[in-house]
Amino acid sequence: MFEKILIANRGEIALRIQRACRELGIKTVVVHSEADREAKYVRLADESVCIGPAPARDSYLNMPAIISAAEVTDAEAIHPGYGFLAENADFADRVEKSGFVFIGPRPESIRIMGDKVCAKRAMIEAGVPVVPGSEGALPEDPDEIFRIAREIGYPVIIKAAGGGGGRGMRVVYTEAALQNAVAMTRNEAGAAFNNPEVYMEKFLENPRHIEIQILADGGRNAVWLGERDCSMQRRHQKVIEEAPAPGITRRLIERIGERCAEACRKMSYRGAGTFEFLYENGEFFFIEMNTRIQVEHTVTEMITGLDLVQQQIKIAAGEKFLLRQRDVVFRGHAIECRINAEDPFKFTPSPGRITNWHTPGGPGVRMDSHVFSGYTVPPNYDSMIAKLITYGDTREQAIARMEIALSEMVVEGVHTNIPLHRELMQDAHFVKGGTSIHYLEHKLAQRP
Ligand code: ADP
Repeated sequence: MFEKILIANRGEIALRIQRACRELGIKTVVVHSEADREAKYVRLADESVCIGPAPARDSYLNMPAIISAAEVTDAEAIHPGYGFLAENADFADRVEKSGFVFIGPRPESIRIMGDKVCAKRAMIEAGVPVVPGSEGALPEDPDEIFRIAREIGYPVIIKAAGGGGGRGMRVVYTEAALQNAVAMTRNEAGAAFNNPEVYMEKFLENPRHIEIQILADGGRNAVWLGERDCSMQRRHQKVIEEAPAPGITRRLIERIGERCAEACRKMSYRGAGTFEFLYENGEFFFIEMNTRIQVEHTVTEMITGLDLVQQQIKIAAGEKFLLRQRDVVFRGHAIECRINAEDPFKFTPSPGRITNWHTPGGPGVRMDSHVFSGYTVPPNYDSMIAKLITYGDTREQAIARMEIALSEMVVEGVHTNIPLHRELMQDAHFVKGGTSIHYLEHKLAQRP
């Protein structure tokens, strides 16, 4: 096992990784920007290194500074968390070439999955169902593009091969709008992702977002850890996640789970990963694979009893991977609410000093947060300040516990989206379960 790990991230996930390390008896080095000097995990770390000023490009995205920090502290491995450099194949490559272990997949796996055209091709080869669409990138010839769209059937969605974070996508409803949409998406993709390649998919009008968590050892061993329903989204950003997904038969989940595990074996995938699907009319359609730990990994931990971050570390350390599919037992239901420092209905960020912070507790309540009374939420990063997770024997119990937990929370000094979460816990459609990815935006649009 490693003796010392460098955590190349911030916020709640930095603390989450640190807790996993401490439980495994591993020392931690935390790198931080000038804005995060006072963070809780910086104080709790065995060592800390300031790697630059507040803007992420000067600190959390600064590869040489992070690698030098690992060198001067004698860390053996680097955990990238999520966001920032977590899915940057060049970073993974540089980490390994500098003699450190990257806690994640091999750089080639990250590179393939980072190009969505390549990722889809790999999935088709591995027998994972994908959204019907163009085979590969769109050609230049406009007649060919028209033909492909007619074959798929409108509406279609034009997506950037290098896209991410919900950017670089355009829905097209009519032939008249097609050519222009392709040209615009190409231009944007070239500027934003340095890759003008675009592809076309059938636009699914009422899908749910269902994803499968996997763990694999880089060889023949891969297990799937059930699904998460992340359909409650705003602007392609997840707001609430839960596991299991309500109303989907276990037989369907087992079938798609096994496909994902088999794909990992074929690709010799290493570490934790997530296969994201759109789910409509009883069918799964792959959209992308995330090659990192995800924000919502917690709900999977609650229903499996596994610690996914510790599993990542053990796999990276080359420990024998002993987990077998038959050992994975699902129990109960878990829900996660992402608590953001923002206006609950206008969604404008609300950074600043938290003057009072009181967190809930009780049976089945988990709070993952780096925040405390007196903490200042910096304006430079993502607005998520906490993840509130509840667990129950049933979905009803998990919802009831979430309602109580949200009502107990006290946050003063900044605005949060807690009022939105409290409304959603009482929303008849959410309570029933199975809402589509468009539900929240439609609901918000109807507010007076
Ligand atoms: P990103 O990497 O930017 O998150 P994804 O491919 O995962 O891109 O798509 C993000 C979101 O865009 C999905 O969760 C879904 O809401 C929407 N989306 C993507 N492809 C389709 C599609 N073919 N039909 C309908 N919605 C889609």
